[in-house]
Amino acid sequence: MSTFQELGVMPEIQQAITELGFEQPMPVQTEVIPQLLANTRDIIALAQTGTGKTAAFGIPIIQKTDVKHLSPQTLILCPTRELCLQIAGDLTDYSTYVKDIKILPVYGGSSIESQIRTLKRGVHIIVATPGRLIDLIKRKTVSLSNVHTMVLDEADEMLNMGFSEDIDEILSYLPQERSMLLFSATMPKEIEKITRKYMQDPKEITIGRKNEGAQSVRHIYYMVHAKDKYLALKRIVDYYPNIYGIVFCRTRKETQEIADKLLQDGYDADSLHGDLSQAQRDFVMGKYRNHNLQLLVATDVAARGLDVDDVTHIVNFGLPDDFEIYTHRSGRTGRAGKTGTSISIIHTKEKGKVTQIEKLINKKFEKREIPKGDVICEKQLFNFVDKIEKVKVNEAEIERLLPSIFRKLEWLEKEDIIKRIVSLEFNRLIEYYQQAEEIEEPQESSRRNREESRGKRGDNRQENGARKPEKGYARLFINVGKMDGVNPASLMGFINDNVKGKVPIGRIDLMKSFSFFEVPEELAGKIVNTFRGMYIEDRKLVVQLAQEGERPEKGKKKFFGNDYGNKSKKKKFRY
Ligand code: AMP
Repeated sequence: MSTFQELGVMPEIQQAITELGFEQPMPVQTEVIPQLLANTRDIIALAQTGTGKTAAFGIPIIQKTDVKHLSPQTLILCPTRELCLQIAGDLTDYSTYVKDIKILPVYGGSSIESQIRTLKRGVHIIVATPGRLIDLIKRKTVSLSNVHTMVLDEADEMLNMGFSEDIDEILSYLPQERSMLLFSATMPKEIEKITRKYMQDPKEITIGRKNEGAQSVRHIYYMVHAKDKYLALKRIVDYYPNIYGIVFCRTRKETQEIADKLLQDGYDADSLHGDLSQAQRDFVMGKYRNHNLQLLVATDVAARGLDVDDVTHIVNFGLPDDFEIYTHRSGRTGRAGKTGTSISIIHTKEKGKVTQIEKLINKKFEKREIPKGDVICEKQLFNFVDKIEKVKVNEAEIERLLPSIFRKLEWLEKEDIIKRIVSLEFNRLIEYYQQAEEIEEPQESSRRNREESRGKRGDNRQENGARKPEKGYARLFINVGKMDGVNPASLMGFINDNVKGKVPIGRIDLMKSFSFFEVPEELAGKIVNTFRGMYIEDRKLVVQLAQEGERPEKGKKKFFGNDYGNKSKKKKFRY
C-alpha cells in the first residue's frame, strides 16, 4: 500500500492531513491523486460518499494551485449548501500549512454581498452550488476565464435535483481547455451524456463495482400490510436500542407525520424536510450531527447535505420509485470503515422493487420477520443491563450521598433492588408490548398460489374457520386473553409453572378475551385436568380442547401479574 508521500503529496499537505488522522490513503485517493497531479485531462470517478473522495480531489487541487495568481483556478460544483460548506471546510483543513491560499464557498440562502466582497478581494478555489454561482456570474462579480480545473461532485445528485441546464450554462463560461473531474455514486444514462459532451477520452476510475452499493452495508426488508408500517417502524427501532439512524420518507407531509408520531410515542426523533426554514433545518442537522438526536426523519432532498459518518441504520419507510435514490440512502450508512444496515419496511406490492434493487446493487436483501414483543423487551433489557455494567461511576461525586442511600434501601435484598431498577426503566415498554397485537405478516404469493399450497400442505383451518392443530398436537382453549394482559411468554410460564414436567408449547393464538395454545396430544388431558377447578381471584379458569368451542364469560380483572390459585393455593404469576 502506498503512502501520501509516494503519491506525490507535498509536505505541507501531508502535515495537515496527518494531524487530521489520515494515516494511509484510501483507495479512491490512491487512484485519483497521482492522476490529477500528472495533469490527466478528464477523470470520471465512481465512488460513494464516505470513500474519501473529497480528499482525493481536494489534495491535488490545493497542491496545483498557484497562490501568487489571485484569480479562480478551480471550480467545484456540488448540489447542496451543506455539501458546499463541508467541501470548503475540508479543503481549508487540508491547506492549513499552505500559505495564502483562498477558498470560498458560494451558496444560496446566505448574504450575497459578503460573498461578492470576498470575491473582489480574490480567491483561488470556488466551491459552489449552481444557482448562486450563476447569479454571481450574471452580476459580473466572478470570472471563470482562468479556471483550469473543474470538479462536479455528486453529479448524479445534481442531475436528480434538476441542475442539468445550470451545469451546461456554467460550463459555457469556462475555457475550452480545462480539465474536468466528475464524481458520482452511480452512473445513470444522463451522466454518460455529460461525459460525452464535455470530456475527452476520460480516465474512468471505479471504487467498488459500478452501480454497486457499499459492501459494508447489509440490506434487510420487512414486509407488512400498509396499515402496519408505522407500528413496524416502532418495533424495528425498539429492536435496535442503540440505533443512530435516518428514516427516509417519500413526502414532506409523511416525514412530518412520522416524526410527530415518534415524538409523541417518546422517541428521540425530529424531522428534516423542505417545508422547514433553512435555520430550522440547520438546527435539526446540528442536533443530529452532535448525537443529540437518535432518529432523523427526512426526505431525500433535505438529507442530501447531511454528512455524518457513523449512521448505524437507514430505514426506508417504503421504497423509492427511483432505485438510484435507494443507493444514495443506503450509502449514508456503512461509511468510513464502519458497517451499517439499510432496512426497508415494505408492503406486498413492493416486493418486485426489492428484486430490481438487488440487481442494481448486486447484493441480496435478507427478509426478516417483524420482531415479536417479548424478543424486543429482552433485547432492550439486556442492552440496559449491559449499560449498567459499563457505566462510569463518578465515585468522588456520589460518595457523600451513598451512606444515606444505603440506609434508605437497606431493607431490600440485592435481587429486589435490581428488579426495581429494571422495572423503573422498562415497565412502560413491557406493558406496551403486552397490550400490543403482534403484526401480522402478509402473504407474499398470489391468492391462487396460496390456495394451491394450502391444499398441498393440508389446510390448517377447518371448515368452520377454526384452526386445526399441527400434527401430533392438540389445540387447547383457555378463557384468558390479551385484555387480561396475557402474552405468549406469560402464558407459557403459567402453564409450565402449574403442570408437572416440561410442556413443549406449540402455536399460541391470543384473542381479546380468550386464547388458544397447542400442546403434544398425549399431554392435553393432563393439562386440562391440572387447571380444572382453578380460580384466578373470583374468576373460574376454563381450559379445554378447542373443538369443544365453549366461550367464556368476560374477565373482570387483569390476569397478568395477578395472583391465581386453586381456591386455596395462591401463587405469584411469573412472566
Ligand atoms: P468523504 O468521502 O470525502 O466524505 O470522506 C469520508 C470521511 O473519511 C471523512 O470524514 C474524511 O475526513 C475521512 N477520510 C478521508 N480520507 C481519509 C484517510 N486517508 N484516512 C482516514 N480518514 C479519511
